[in-house]
Formats: sequence, C-alpha cells, structure tokens
Amino acid sequence: MTAEPNMKGGAVRFAPSPTGLMHVGNARLALVNWLFARAHAGTFVLRLDDTDRERSRAEFAQAIEQDLRWLGLAWDRYESQSARLSSYDEACARLRAAGRLYACYETGEELDYMRRRQIKAGKPPIYDRAALKLDESDRQRLESEGRKAHWRFRLEHKSIRWDDLVRGPQEFRGENLSDPVVVRADGTYLYMLPSAVDDADMAITHVIRGEDHVTNTAIQIQMLDALGAPVPAFAHLPLMTDASGAKLSKRLGSVTLESLRKDGIEPMAINSLLARLGTSEAVEPHLDLDALVATFDITRFGRAQPRFDPAELKALNAKLLHMMPYAMVAERLTALGLGHADARFWDAVRRNLERLEDAGVWHGVCYAVVTPAIEETEFVREAAKVLPPDPWSETTYGTWTEAVGERTGRKGKALFLPLRLALTGRSHGPELKTLLPLIGRKRAFARLHGEAA
Ligand code: GLU
Repeated sequence: MTAEPNMKGGAVRFAPSPTGLMHVGNARLALVNWLFARAHAGTFVLRLDDTDRERSRAEFAQAIEQDLRWLGLAWDRYESQSARLSSYDEACARLRAAGRLYACYETGEELDYMRRRQIKAGKPPIYDRAALKLDESDRQRLESEGRKAHWRFRLEHKSIRWDDLVRGPQEFRGENLSDPVVVRADGTYLYMLPSAVDDADMAITHVIRGEDHVTNTAIQIQMLDALGAPVPAFAHLPLMTDASGAKLSKRLGSVTLESLRKDGIEPMAINSLLARLGTSEAVEPHLDLDALVATFDITRFGRAQPRFDPAELKALNAKLLHMMPYAMVAERLTALGLGHADARFWDAVRRNLERLEDAGVWHGVCYAVVTPAIEETEFVREAAKVLPPDPWSETTYGTWTEAVGERTGRKGKALFLPLRLALTGRSHGPELKTLLPLIGRKRAFARLHGEAA
C-alpha cells in the first residue's frame, strides 16, 4: 500500500462490457470508482466497452445503467466505445507511422501450434515476432493468397514500472510480454488499445479496476507513452470470490444485481458491504452514500481476495431496514399497497423485517383479517374481559397484561405467548405494546374470542 496522492478533480471510469448482467464483483468496481470520484471532487465516467460486436447487447447496456441507477451511482459522463471507432483508427494510424504497429498474418491455428510448442519446450508463450521480419513483398504475397492482416502493438523491451495504489510498486519487462493483437483481421478492435485511447482522450487520472488487468496495465502504459499521453495512476483490486472462495461468474445468477433486487436486498446494503469488503474497516449498514464517501480511502484496500457471502448481505440488509427512518420508505410502502403504513406502523414493525416487503405481513396483522391461533380458549377469554377501554396507546399493553396476571395468576411466557398467538396468529413478531394500538380494541376483542377478524 502506498499513500494516496492528492487528486482534486481528475477522472475515473467504470468500463463494463455489456455482455452480461452486472454481478456484485462489477458493482464493487463501479462503487469504488464512484466513491473515489466523489471523495476527490472528480468525474465518474461510465464507459461501455462494447467493441465486441458479437457479444455486446443493447439490453445488457440498459441493464447495467438500470443497476447503477438503482445503486445510486450516477455518472457524470457516458461513453460507448462503439461510437468512438474513429479515435481508435486515428490512434492506429499514429502508432503505425511510429512503427509501433505491425501487420501479422498467422492464422489462429498457427498461433496455437506455436504456443503449444513453446509451452512444451518449457518456454513462456510469447509471440516470436516473425511478422516483424516480413518485408513489403512478403506482405503482398500473403495478401494475394487471401490472407488478411491483423495488427500487433510492438512492445519496447524495457522495464515498465508503476506504483500501484493497492499493490504497491510493480515492475514488468517488455520482453516478457507478448506483443498484443490490437486489431483483428476483420478490422475490429480488441480491448487493449481502445481502452488506452479512451483513458487518454477522457483524461482519466486514476484507473481503478480488477487485478485481472495488471498485465494489461504494463502494456497500456507503453501504449499511452507511444501516443504521447500522460500515464494515469493505477489501483488494482483483488477480485472478489464467492463464499467458498471460487470465482464469481456472470453466469452465477444469484449474485447478479437483478436477482438481489428481486430478493428484496436494499441497494445501500450492497453499497455498505462492497465499500468495506477487502479493507480493514468493519462492515456496517449506512443509510446513504455520503457516509461512505466521507470515509473512503482507496489505499485501505488490501491484497487478499474478499469473499462475498450472501448470508452476510442478508443480515446487513435486515440491520439497514431496522434503522431506516419512515421518510425513506414511505413511498415504497405505499407502492406495496400498504395503505395504513404510517410512521407509527413503520416504527412498530421495522425491527422485525429482513426485507421491506415483509412489512406486508405485519400490515395484515394490524389491518386485515387474521385467523387467531387459540391454544388456551379459557385463558384468552378471561384476558379479553379485562381489555382496557379506548383510547389505546403504547401503555395499554402493560396495563392490560398486569390486569390479566392479577386475574389469572399467570406470568412470563405462559401469560404472554397465548395472547400473542391469539392476537397475531403467530408466535413471534414486533413488540405487542406497539402492535396492540394498531390492531385496535375491536379486532383484539374478536381475535381473543377465536374469531377471524
Ligand atoms: N471491460 C473491461 C472489464 O470489464 C474493463 C477493464 C478496464 O477497466 O479497463 O474487465
């Protein structure tokens, strides 16, 4: 870890490929970039890496936007690579003129064969640069045979260093890396060059991404140098795994944001967890992003792979709901069709919720027909006889149960449980002193007599 440099202003980007739904691993990178931008008064760019025409889909792009909005991660600038091809063409022309791109004609099978031979011989599978030796007549001959060129970036064989904000000092050597293919034979771009061109054109000052891109960084630093662009700072976060330590995959349905949303997980539960996982700080529920911005520091992320545990998220979700003020949920309760769900109701039930939707159960207990569970008919009838008169308040339950105790000689669970079962039809739930005034005298009286009311 290194000290975080002063970065007032500046820009970061979240660059998802719209080839699948966003999962918690992607969300973590989006959040960390967003928090970094907000913590440093910088710009957060959403950039769709959609040069892969076959795998990129408009509906995935829309889903990513929807997920980011849901998380509250608004972007200051929106770009998609498919709309920027002319910038990449221009960069290619410059690199070609500078002798940093060269045409290659090997087929996929030929490259595969070469790679396998190198591995067999115990050598690293680095492209042998055979194409660099081709002269103009060789190229013409290959093209007349119907071969089309793909283009590689020529790495300089020298040391490449940067001070990673998470990993500390990093060093690669150009000779240990393969010259990357940047343009396919069909003229389409691979990830590597467009990303570097975008980072330069969009004046990205900090590239915060997964550690699966560390080697790409070495290559992209040379690309930026070759283009005469400033090299941003880099922070590579260890990739998050699932609870068992295995890789999170886009195909893993249960960790997509869409499925978490459907499961009733609050966006701030996700943000609260993802902002802290992998740091030395404790995971705690936060009601809004501002609190996370205030305490954000990229250098607090360590190098161990954090695990995403759905059970931890679920528990955090419950804690978050328990502390949510009514104003934050009022509209959503109405949207759930819970007509009587006012602040008093919310305060009575929120501590018993795992998901907001669960409020519907308690709304039903207070305002709809409940079939009481009567275990001791005589006892609850006796209790009904001493129900205090209206109006009811939060002290009613105490007054009542004291009277029931005196009349029947019962106390503790033997007193309270049959009353709860009769009044709510359930053995667990919010404190009865808060529920009772919401249920009201008429319903309570009927339920204590075993009537569905
Ligand atoms: N589209 C790349 C990814 O999703 C972006 C990598 C980067 O941040 O440069 O992994």
